[in-house]
Amino acid sequence: MGRLARPLENLRQRYDVIVVGSGYGGAVSASRLARAGKKVTVLERGREFVTGEFPARFPELRSELRLTGKSMTSGSATALFDLRIGEDIHVLVGCGLGGGSLINAGVCLRPDPRVFGDEVWPGQIRQDGLLDEGYRRAEAWVRPATHPRAAEMRKYQAIAGAAEATGCTMRDTPVAVSFDENVNPAGVRQPACTSCGDCCSGCNVGAKNTVALSYLPDAVRHGAEIFTEVSVERVLQRPGGGWRIEAARSGTKPGDRSAVSGRLAIEADVVIVAAGTLGSTEILLRSAEAGLPVSDRLGKRFSANGDIIAFGYGGKETVNAIGIGHPAKIEGFDVGSAVTGQLEYRDAENLDLEYAIQDGALPSPIAPALPVMFLPNGRLLGAVQSLISGVYKGPFSRLQTFFAVSHDSASGEFRLDGGRLALVWPDAKDEPVYKRLGAALSAVSAHVGGSYVQNPLAGTVMGSQPATAHPLGGCGMGVDRLSGVVDHGGRVFDASTPANTTAVHEGLYVIDGSIIPRSLGVNPLLTITALAERAMLNMRADYGLSFNADATVPAMPADVSAPARFG
Ligand SMILES: Cc1cc2nc3c(=O)[nH]c(=O)nc-3n(C[C@H](O)[C@H](O)[C@H](O)COP(=O)(O)OP(=O)(O)OC[C@H]3O[C@@H](n4cnc5c(N)ncnc54)[C@H](O)[C@@H]3O)c2cc1C
Ligand code: SF4
Repeated sequence: MGRLARPLENLRQRYDVIVVGSGYGGAVSASRLARAGKKVTVLERGREFVTGEFPARFPELRSELRLTGKSMTSGSATALFDLRIGEDIHVLVGCGLGGGSLINAGVCLRPDPRVFGDEVWPGQIRQDGLLDEGYRRAEAWVRPATHPRAAEMRKYQAIAGAAEATGCTMRDTPVAVSFDENVNPAGVRQPACTSCGDCCSGCNVGAKNTVALSYLPDAVRHGAEIFTEVSVERVLQRPGGGWRIEAARSGTKPGDRSAVSGRLAIEADVVIVAAGTLGSTEILLRSAEAGLPVSDRLGKRFSANGDIIAFGYGGKETVNAIGIGHPAKIEGFDVGSAVTGQLEYRDAENLDLEYAIQDGALPSPIAPALPVMFLPNGRLLGAVQSLISGVYKGPFSRLQTFFAVSHDSASGEFRLDGGRLALVWPDAKDEPVYKRLGAALSAVSAHVGGSYVQNPLAGTVMGSQPATAHPLGGCGMGVDRLSGVVDHGGRVFDASTPANTTAVHEGLYVIDGSIIPRSLGVNPLLTITALAERAMLNMRADYGLSFNADATVPAMPADVSAPARFG
C-alpha cells in the first residue's frame, strides 16, 4: 500500500492525456495536467522502487543492470540501470518510476545564458520570458541546495586544491537533496540526508528529491493513474482525431506468441512522449515507420553533453569517495552527497572551452567490484591490498571519481537497425572536448599524487569508446520542421503539409531531454524540468487550462516509503 503505481488490470481504454515515461519531463507533465483536471495516465516501462528498495549490495546491483549492444542483450528489461553499449559511444539511463532521477547525482545547474543565444533554439526560448518562469518553478519543486559542510568533505578538498593548477574556480554544487527533514511541495515528509554518498544507486534514506517523491505523488494526489512495466512501442493517429498508443508489457518481444496477451492499445486526445532521449526518439522512429509524418530531422543532433565519468587512481590522500550506504556499512565515514563541489573553468570568448569537474562518489554496492575493475589495468598490487582490507582502507579509499561536463558538437544520430535503436557517431571519440577534459583531469589527479584513469573497463566489452549519462537530442526543437522535430513547446511538427513547415500534430508532444538541440555544458536535469514546466505554461494557454504550481500543505504528510498514502 502507499505505492504510486496501480495494477495493470485497472488500465482504461481511454484517457484525456497519456504520458509515456516518468522521468523529469513525464512527471512534470503528469502533475500539471492532473492539476488542470485532466484524466491523466502515466505509462512507465520500469518498476516502482520505494525508499528502502534500492540495491544495497553488489548482487542486487548486478541484477539491476541491463546491457544492450548491437547483437547482445543481458539482464532484465526492467532493470534500474539501462546501459547501451554502442559501437561509437555508450549511454547509461535510468529505468523505473521516476526515470533518471532515481539514480542520478542530483546536480542542479542553469547553463550559461550563451547556450540559449545559439540560433539552434527557436527564438521564443530566448524572448518570451517563459523559460525563466520554468526555471523558477523547477527550482521550487526540485529544491537545489548545497551540502551544509561541502568544503569539509575530503573528495571536495582533493579537487579544490587543483584550482590554481587548472585555472578554475571552486564552488559548492547545488544538488536535489534535502539536507534537513522537511515536508516537500507534494506533501511528502523527507528525512535529512545522511551523507552516505549512495545517490547514484538510489537513495534508501528518502532524502534525494527525486520526481518519485515530488511531481509523481502530486500527479496521483490530483487523480493521475500510474502503470509500470508497460513499454510503449508507437503512437498512431486515430482517423477521427486523437491518438492511439500501442504498448506491451515490458520484456515481451513484438511478434512473440506469448506477447499477444500482453499487448495493449489505449487512446487519448493528447499524448506526451517523455520516454527520455533514447526512449522518445525510438518511439517516434517506430511511429514514423508506421506512417506518422514527422520531420526528417528525427534522430539527429544527439549530444553527449561533453560528459565523462573518470577516475584518479594512486593518489596520496584519502578522499572517501565511495558511498557507505544506508544503514551505513562502516562507521565514521563522511562521504557527502554524490557531488558536493566542482571546479569551473570559464572562458568569456569561447563557450565551448568551458567545463566543470565535480567531486563524484561511487555508490556502496559497487565497492566489491572496484578491485576487479581496476585489475586488468595492471594495478594488481593495490587491488589485492584492497581485496584484503576492504575498499574503505587501501588504495580505493584514495580513488577519486570525477563527473565532468562541457560541450560537444551534437553530431550523433539515432537510427533503427533491425528494429533496435542504434546510435551512430563514428567521430565521437575524436571530439576535442575529451582531450581538453583529459588534460584538466590529469592535472587534478596529479595534484594529490595520482594518475588519471579515463576508463578502467577499456579491456572489457566497454572498449575505449566514450560514455555518457547525459544523452540529449534526437527530437531536437527548431523553428520549423526543416530545423527541428518539435517546436519550442514540444509540439511535434507535422510533415504531411508540404507548404506549411510550421504545422504541428494537434495533441502530440515530446517533453524530455530529447528536445534539447545542443550540449548544455552543465548537468541537464534542471533545464529538462524547466522546459517541461515551460511547455505546460504553453499548453495552459493553448487549451485554456487552469492550474497552479503551489506546494500542497497536507494535514498529514505522506511517508517516503509510501508516497501515495496521503493523510
Ligand atoms: C548515473 C547518472 C547520474 C546522473 N547525474 C545527473 C546529475 O547529477 N544532474 C543532472 O542534471 N543529470 C544527471 N543525470 C542525467 C539525468 O538524470 C537525465 O538527464 C534525466 O533523468 C533525463 O530526464 P528525462 O525526462 O529526459 O528522461 P528520463 O529521466 O530518462 O525518464 C524517461 C523514462 O521513460 C521510461 N521509458 C523509456 N522508454 C519507454 C517506453 N518505450 N515506454 C514507457 N516508458 C519508457 C524510462 O524507463 C524512464 O523512466 C544522471 C544520469 C545518470 C544515469
Ligand atoms: S547522500 Fe545518501 S542520504 Fe544523501 S541524498 Fe545521497 S543517497 Fe540519499
